[in-house]
Amino acid sequence: MAYQIRQSQINTLNQILKGQSDRTRSQIIYNAQELTSDLASMVNRWLVDGGTAEKNWRSDARNFIDRTAGVNEIWWIDNTLSVRWSETLESLHHIDIQSILEQPEMREKLRISRQDNLPEYSRVITTDEGYDIIFILMPIVFDDYFDGFFAIEIYIDGFIDRIVDDPLDTGFYTKAYAGDEVVYRNGPELTQHSYLEYFELNLDADTDGWLFKVYPTETIMTTILSPLPYVVFSGGFIIVVMLLLTLLSRYKAKQQSLQLSLEVKRREKIQDKLSYLANHDALTHLPNRHYITEYIEHYLADKTKAKKPFSLLFIDLDHFKDVNDTLGHAMGDRLLMKLPELFGQIFRKQDIIARMGGDEFIILLPGKTEEENIIALVGRFLKQLKYPIDIEGHQIRLTGSVGVAMYPRDGSTVNELLSNADAALYRAKDKGRNTYAIYDSVIEHKAQARLKLVNQLHEAQEQNRFEMFYQPRYDAQGHLLGTEALMRWRQEDCDYAQPKVFIELLEDTGLIVSVSWQLFSQSCQQFKTLMANHKNIVLSFNVSAKLLEHPEFLSRLKYILDEHKFPYDRLELELTEQTLIQDVENSQFILNQLTAWGINVAIDDFGTGYSSLSYLKNFPVHALKIDKSFIRDMNEDKDDLELIKTMILMGQNLNITTVAEGVETQAQLKQLIKMGCDQFQGYLFSHPTSFNDLKAGIDELSDIDFSALKSINSVD
Ligand code: C2E
Ligand code: CA
Ligand code: CA
Repeated sequence: MAYQIRQSQINTLNQILKGQSDRTRSQIIYNAQELTSDLASMVNRWLVDGGTAEKNWRSDARNFIDRTAGVNEIWWIDNTLSVRWSETLESLHHIDIQSILEQPEMREKLRISRQDNLPEYSRVITTDEGYDIIFILMPIVFDDYFDGFFAIEIYIDGFIDRIVDDPLDTGFYTKAYAGDEVVYRNGPELTQHSYLEYFELNLDADTDGWLFKVYPTETIMTTILSPLPYVVFSGGFIIVVMLLLTLLSRYKAKQQSLQLSLEVKRREKIQDKLSYLANHDALTHLPNRHYITEYIEHYLADKTKAKKPFSLLFIDLDHFKDVNDTLGHAMGDRLLMKLPELFGQIFRKQDIIARMGGDEFIILLPGKTEEENIIALVGRFLKQLKYPIDIEGHQIRLTGSVGVAMYPRDGSTVNELLSNADAALYRAKDKGRNTYAIYDSVIEHKAQARLKLVNQLHEAQEQNRFEMFYQPRYDAQGHLLGTEALMRWRQEDCDYAQPKVFIELLEDTGLIVSVSWQLFSQSCQQFKTLMANHKNIVLSFNVSAKLLEHPEFLSRLKYILDEHKFPYDRLELELTEQTLIQDVENSQFILNQLTAWGINVAIDDFGTGYSSLSYLKNFPVHALKIDKSFIRDMNEDKDDLELIKTMILMGQNLNITTVAEGVETQAQLKQLIKMGCDQFQGYLFSHPTSFNDLKAGIDELSDIDFSALKSINSVD
């Protein structure tokens, strides 16, 4: 169609065309820049992550292709210029990249690209199938470390098509030439060359520029040029105004769609940023927990590769909380930000350093490493860490603890490896920090079992699963004198766990204090119900060192006794020599008070302690419980017999009652009586029993005929 056009209309049309061509130009430049910077950040990702797992690279590459219209294929060209890996969509065509790389012109591009560390664009290449493509080459360079190129192939038609909007929306076609060749066109052949604008675009310095031509669609020609009735009668001036209005409204519409596309861009950017954030720590810019776990997961899941070994260092800064507490969190953050640099001085490029959160880091060291090498490396790291770090004039010295686990030796899953490294770290901290520990399955299993047990003990306490069993004690005539309360842990299946399984942990965790008080109160209550018929029996209660050193020991004891109206002189506390001498002054003070109240004190496990016996004179002690290890062997072992004799004699001299515990046989009993031992306790008379059993059997237990007792085979 031909148009009759007046000069004023041509001017306006040209203005509109010019505007459209400028927009097209800047969109193409903007998109090309976005593309190269996207590519550059991909390079950075893989530089930082050296020792890349192919699978990770592939998924990154695949994402890149998916989000970039017109990009069909991406290659990692290694530094010998052969293809290391490539990732491709279902391609429209086949391209022999290797032969393209061989071309002298491409060689030159690769050289320049590497030299300038800048992306290079190839000239347009037409494939056998008739598609026009170009390559972008992105060098992978870090300092003087060169690891080849990323090459992407761009299908020009697809790429530009995404950038320039639909002619039906804009009212303009676009056509692009590389040299004489048309590489893009979204409209019919130009008929009216008078209505076009063109611009030239050079993507890089040594590639021929492309010529873009922009011309109007029929529709817009009609819109612009068909005069509206009142316009026709109103003369040229108004037509120009109307055309300008059209231009303006079109421009606004265009602006809106530009804004829309900017908004889309912005969202995409945010998306990219989010995926960066999802994989990196915002403070230190190190890969984060998510990243490192995924990385290891992918590595371990990759069945195609012979599994190369690697080591994991789990690092925790010692007392980092103190930095935060004394200097403030801002300074703490500044310090953390300095760590990547410090790590970089010790670890190699191919090692991955990730921040697990807080002051915890993971270093993945790829490759087989001897334990001694790791130890040396960790040693250097710990040493490096100790140099003062300057933060705003504050010289801060750090130390750290390191746990080491190795693949495949110490686990086959990411969870296993991390938790084993963590277990080793835990042990390093336990050793006093500023040191390392290498995972050792035997040691760590014990530690883990212990940890599990600690949790169970807490639970047991909450569920009142600790109970007292009672074991009777007799005088030489077979009269019941009292019972010793011995702790048991009731299991789910109603079996009872013995103290040797848990008492040490209760002590270590300090749980013994609250459990003891709970059970003491219960014992007092239970025992009172027996005392109605057996007024003189004594309750013996074992007191651990932790309980004795508790500042509220005396007041708490008194409170509970009073609460139950429990007569003081019906209570005996059993303490070991070790407990008493831990803090002699405190023990003396407490024992004096107990004696003043009429509470008896017995030395438990007597004879096993190494302490001098002279302390017996200083402590007001009522009874000695000769340790059952002496009783066990007394009939076979002369030394033990002698020792027992001595202990009994000493008791007589100091006017202290002697008690034999662990009596199992008639022979032992007879011998002990003969030697003058005062009191007896053991399986020969009764095993420790639950309170209900004790209560039910107490009449039978209260007076027994020694001669009728049957010896038992030692169960120790
Ligand atoms: P212990 O105070 O020396 O308690 C005597 C232990 O000897 C008890 O072991 C008792 O069951 C056992 N026994 C009694 N007669 C015989 C016998 O004829 N032969 C043998 N082989 N053993 C006999 P149990 O109940 O397993 O308690 C072990 C240790 O756990 C106690 O040794 C005590 O140190 C501690 N313990 C038990 N209950 C408590 C408690 O409530 N508080 C504290 N702090 N420690 C407790
Ligand atoms: Ca005892
Ligand atoms: Ca004992």
